[in-house]
Amino acid sequence: MSWTRTRTEGSAVPTIGVLALQGDVREHVRMLQEAGARATAVRRPAELEAVDGLVIPGGESTTMWKLAETFDMLEPMRMRIKEGMPAYGSCAGMIMLADRIEDGVPGQQTVGGIDMVVRRNAFGRQVDSFEEDLDFAGQRVHAVFIRAPWVETVGADVDVLGRCEPGDRIVAVRQGPLLATSFHPELTGDARVHRYFVDMLREL
Ligand code: GLN
Repeated sequence: MSWTRTRTEGSAVPTIGVLALQGDVREHVRMLQEAGARATAVRRPAELEAVDGLVIPGGESTTMWKLAETFDMLEPMRMRIKEGMPAYGSCAGMIMLADRIEDGVPGQQTVGGIDMVVRRNAFGRQVDSFEEDLDFAGQRVHAVFIRAPWVETVGADVDVLGRCEPGDRIVAVRQGPLLATSFHPELTGDARVHRYFVDMLREL
């Protein structure tokens, strides 16, 4: 990997891109910096090549998919994920990382990578947005859900990292170098989920 090592601390500082086609990019950049990474906006294939990992932000997954096609980013993202690039998707980003989706618009495509079925706007049918404390990988976090998806089913290689009320739904998963949450940790001022992702990159 191409990480530079800071001499003073001797610890790897990964460069993490935030897909900047649409959605809450700035919030993720800030949280990644707080979590000890270098963070940069990514819009072009050449920018994607230069990062060690990628965050796909919350926003609107159909818009993000169409813009990803327009900017010729869909295939490059698929390729890099196939090659093992770590990626974290929150909300619409979770939809983008799902191998299969329910309640997408006709023809809606994803980047894929995580062997799961994600239902788009799943909580939205009950309540558009809500907040709740839940366990994420053994840590208690405050989770903000905004027209959020949930995970219907996961494959054998996917670890469930978090569930929430209502319905004990799966809202956080990890498969190897890929992480996804239904909720938006970038909006809470708590960088622990981003730190978890940065630590994932350091471990790999
Ligand atoms: N409902 C949105 C979608 O389908 C996701 C919402 C969000 O990212 N806050 O993409």
